[in-house]
Amino acid sequence: MLIAGNWKMYKGPAETAEFCRELKHRDLGGVDVVVCPPYVSLAAAVQQLADTEIAVAAQSVHWEAEGAFTGEVSAPMLKELGVYGAIVGHSERRQHFGETDETVGMRARAALAAGLFVIACVGETEAERESGATEDVLRRQVSVLEADDNLVIAYEPVWAIGTGKTATPDMAQDAHAFVKSLVDLPVLYGGAVKPDNAAELLGQPAVDGARVGGASLDVDSFEAICRAAGR
Ligand code: PEP
Repeated sequence: MLIAGNWKMYKGPAETAEFCRELKHRDLGGVDVVVCPPYVSLAAAVQQLADTEIAVAAQSVHWEAEGAFTGEVSAPMLKELGVYGAIVGHSERRQHFGETDETVGMRARAALAAGLFVIACVGETEAERESGATEDVLRRQVSVLEADDNLVIAYEPVWAIGTGKTATPDMAQDAHAFVKSLVDLPVLYGGAVKPDNAAELLGQPAVDGARVGGASLDVDSFEAICRAAGR
């Protein structure tokens, strides 16, 4: 069971250090835990969590090792910092920053080749679900990913991210089972996971963990979700 906290554009280095100092003393239920701070806070997290089992991952990664790509950060740069992995293809990157299936595939392949652990995000919008296109969208998004020991998929229905609307456990189970029929990889659920719904979502047989956004920013709620996963 893996619980990955995506901090989005929250917590600078000082707040990150404070959060990690606290987190490492909490009971995280014996599950695998990853935190994903913004780039500028990665070093603070790596430093604070160096003597723990809690891993640190970036929120994206470029496909080239270096070059004229203003604003981007490469896999070797993350490795040099002691970062363990990276998210690729978060729906906020797809929605606001022009991320495509092709660039998601390129980021994932480069990060895996560099030895990073990768969490690749897939998920349909509300309109796509309502028009019955969920499976077509997932098939297209997964088609750029190849099974790898260092790769996991996060199924994150776009309509559930940051909205407070959660997929029902059955909806999550069906989507995860579909993704697993396409590629043999662990699948995390993401979308308004909170301490009070975590156990039920994580209890579904095809749910291998959770990607937590908002509720990962508070150490008490993040601890509670990790403990629910560990039961
Ligand atoms: C996310 O950012 O990956 C996410 C799932 O966000 P939230 O938990 O806030 O819906």
